[in-house]
Amino acid sequence: MYDYLLVGSGLFNAVVANELNKTGAKCLVVERRNHIGGNCYTYNQEGIIVHAYGAHIFRTSDKRIWDYLCRFAEFNHFINSPIARYNEEIFNLPFNMNTFSRMWGVFSPEEAKKIISNQGKEIDYEPSNLEEHAIKMVGRDIYEKLIKGYTEKQWGKKCSELPISIMRRIPLRFTYDNNYYNDYYQGIPIGGYTPIIEKMFKGSKIVFRRDYCKEKTYWNAKANKIIYTGAIDEFYDYKLGRLDYRSLRFETERINIDNYQGVAVVNYTSRDIPYTRIIEHKHFEYGKQTHTIITREYPELFGDGMEPFYPINDEKNTILYRKYVELSKSEPKVILGGRLGTYQYTDMQDTIKMALDLSEKEIRNN
Ligand SMILES: Cc1cc2nc3c(=O)[nH]c(=O)nc-3n(C[C@H](O)[C@H](O)[C@H](O)COP(=O)(O)OP(=O)(O)OC[C@H]3O[C@@H](n4cnc5c(N)ncnc54)[C@H](O)[C@@H]3O)c2cc1C
Repeated sequence: MYDYLLVGSGLFNAVVANELNKTGAKCLVVERRNHIGGNCYTYNQEGIIVHAYGAHIFRTSDKRIWDYLCRFAEFNHFINSPIARYNEEIFNLPFNMNTFSRMWGVFSPEEAKKIISNQGKEIDYEPSNLEEHAIKMVGRDIYEKLIKGYTEKQWGKKCSELPISIMRRIPLRFTYDNNYYNDYYQGIPIGGYTPIIEKMFKGSKIVFRRDYCKEKTYWNAKANKIIYTGAIDEFYDYKLGRLDYRSLRFETERINIDNYQGVAVVNYTSRDIPYTRIIEHKHFEYGKQTHTIITREYPELFGDGMEPFYPINDEKNTILYRKYVELSKSEPKVILGGRLGTYQYTDMQDTIKMALDLSEKEIRNN
């Protein structure tokens, strides 16, 4: 008998396992994939650390979280400065003076602000969808070249049909600064994320390639408490209905050249290119290999047997999610956690914070 059954071996349960283990609690982990780490999983291919489920760049402004993670790895000084490619044009991201200068040939913030403000006047009413909101905030040129195609591919819907909430804050700055994030701490763990997760799970028993939802009774009998980080609607066998998700397909290729695109992340913002991004993994760690590995990221409609990567937190899904949460209150033995258990997109720093908070609560109550 274990104290805890942890369903899923992603970052959330890895942090929980690490904290609970310190108190002497015994944890059993069941994972349906054939590896630990969930979407943070990385592997080493010929010296290049490959991010198996899309680019994972760690950043936070919370010193507690930064110090916590630094106990498990050394971080390099990687700064995310992605490029947007629109047909034969290249722009810096996030939208900043380098972007405006390339787009309009302007030099000063004042000139850029004037163009954006003039173009934004097109929407002289309260925006009711993402398209109108984006044009009002950044003008039509940036919307057409850098937002429209990318966002429509990502969500599989026209921007005029998407809610503003998807892009309420459009990153916009009037300095020559290509650092995508504003956080105080940023970097990539040297050697990838998997060694971190391995260290966190030290002391726990992990069983791979088993789906908890298919053998609930079997697994439930093995522990006093369950921390479940799979999809909440799947946990309840979809009895109130299915939540919507967006999925992704990753196509990874090894190429016999030393440098494919000169930067870790290139966003393809034209609608005609089916993928949204290409990442070139070696640039996360300043690799000097003579070959390279790239991954194309294709957004896909979510369906049976696919990975639910992004929750779609619109009104309809939020109402359904709340109903599932109500249902979960009648099960004191089960805690729903992590990204899928709480039906929200969480970055790694949020995931770690949620896991530390839960662990503290569990330790306090036991
Ligand atoms: C494409 C993409 C890019 C991202 N980029 C970044 C980034 O740059 N920076 C950042 O901070 N964050 C990023 N994130 C977010 C980051 O991946 C998450 O914060 C983190 O992985 C969440 O961890 P988790 O343990 O909650 O969930 P997950 O990583 O999803 O782990 C859940 C685990 O549970 C397993 N599981 C599910 N159901 C069952 C079941 N029934 N039985 C057994 N096992 C099950 C799954 O196989 C999985 O291994 C990104 C996410 C995605 C999707």
